Amino acid sequence: MIENRNFYINGAWVPPVIAHDHNVIDPSTEDVCAIISLGDQADTDAAVSAAKAAFPTWAATDPQERVGYVKGILAQYEARVEEMAEAISIEMGAPIDMARSSQAPCLPWHLKSALRAFDEIEWIRPLGPHAPNDRIAMEPIGVVGLITPWNWPMNQVTLKVIPALLAGCTMVLKPSEEAPLSSLLFAEFVHDAGVPAGVFNLVNGDGMGVGSQLSRHEDVAMISFTGSTRAGKAISAAAAETLKRVTLELGGKGANVIFADADPKAVKRGVIHCMNNSGQSCNAPTRMLVERSIYDQTVEAAAEIASNIGVGPASEPGRHIGPVVNKSQWTKIQDMIEVGMNEGARLVAGGPGLPEGMNRGYYVRPTVFADVSNDMRIAQEEIFGPVLSIIPFDDEADAIAIANDTPYGLTNYVQSQDGAKRNRMARALRSGMVEMNGEDRGAGSPFGGVKMSGRAREGGVWGIEEFLEVKAISGWAAE
Ligand code: NAD
Repeated sequence: MIENRNFYINGAWVPPVIAHDHNVIDPSTEDVCAIISLGDQADTDAAVSAAKAAFPTWAATDPQERVGYVKGILAQYEARVEEMAEAISIEMGAPIDMARSSQAPCLPWHLKSALRAFDEIEWIRPLGPHAPNDRIAMEPIGVVGLITPWNWPMNQVTLKVIPALLAGCTMVLKPSEEAPLSSLLFAEFVHDAGVPAGVFNLVNGDGMGVGSQLSRHEDVAMISFTGSTRAGKAISAAAAETLKRVTLELGGKGANVIFADADPKAVKRGVIHCMNNSGQSCNAPTRMLVERSIYDQTVEAAAEIASNIGVGPASEPGRHIGPVVNKSQWTKIQDMIEVGMNEGARLVAGGPGLPEGMNRGYYVRPTVFADVSNDMRIAQEEIFGPVLSIIPFDDEADAIAIANDTPYGLTNYVQSQDGAKRNRMARALRSGMVEMNGEDRGAGSPFGGVKMSGRAREGGVWGIEEFLEVKAISGWAAE
């Protein structure tokens, strides 16, 4: 078992001022796999103060010097990639093959993409020919607090830490207390890459402790948060007193609109995408909207695909899905499956309880509900488990109305071979992202939502600019 109670503050591993032991549970076995300590106000203050002291020098570094450190972090990852995959797999239950092929590689993917975007940023730019002595300077915002969830741990950490470093900010990372092991390893990468003391700090903790301490802290200029809508609201309220910038990446309830002319793989792709990572993705297409003429056959196909998805321990190789992260998520998902049944949705795959033959671990049966109406709770609330709701629609206008009738607006999906219809749909859907015909968005495309999904944009130039302030200057001397 791993025991690591230390925090990474001012370039060194330091013990907590007061130890508050916290067990990290392996969701595949329900056993304790690690003990960390949760931080206290004094730990948060020490980390913020180190970041504050390091800021002026780091902000003034040549941008290419910062690029060099970021490349050093990439080299550390490349040497220790297997350790990273294993840490993610054990802490949050991603099957080891999936941790190797999808979870861990988020780090180099986003890091390289941020490096490409960095080259596009004009740090000092003219306002326009009408004002020759004006300049717009882009400057780092200051000390940033980064608060991340457990579901795609390195995805979120990389999307925040790397752009913040490149922008010239110094930072305190508070990873999820459910999945701190990957971030502790990440901090080793940062240290071994030689990033100067105080620039990057890590304090473990929970939301009520370190999370809210960072949100309230007067020396923290910005909080970049990914997690639940509930916590996003709490952070916004806590941050209001100091008027810090708050960027939020929150939950989702994506619609996947399948028209009758969708390609033959669209249904399978949609079910697998919904169940991937055990349904624990904010951008999961959890509402499958199906044109009525192909509704019955689609329900049948989706039920069969879901029934054939294996469920098993994270340590086993293979393409199965793992457990969900913890007992409380498991219970919440079970409750929502009961809610769906009581609301009158038709259960066509999965259902309540542990999968057959399992009696330990937080496993959920891949579950599909048909005949869902969009006002049911299972269609409106984020379940964050492998549960799909299928909803029929009549025509394009009906599909748009149902898809947009949600408090969320993160990613919507469209499946149709009619290009003009796809493009109309892309413009009509109220979400930060629209993905069509199974085509992934390219590297550097901004990730983020509208409405209750938050309004941040991570990735690409947008992801770096979130950490910058805009300064308007007049009377600039010609160079
Ligand atoms: P969570 O909100 O419970 O926790 C996320 C992080 O916030 C953790 O580090 C937690 O300790 C901290 N936190 C919790 N309450 C806090 C508070 N009051 N003040 C400060 N910090 C607080 O979310 P989770 O259960 O870890 O993650 C699942 C949620 O994250 C889902 O709703 C999912 O949709 C969302 N998510 C969104 C995105 C996105 O980019 N939009 C990506 C991944 C996950």
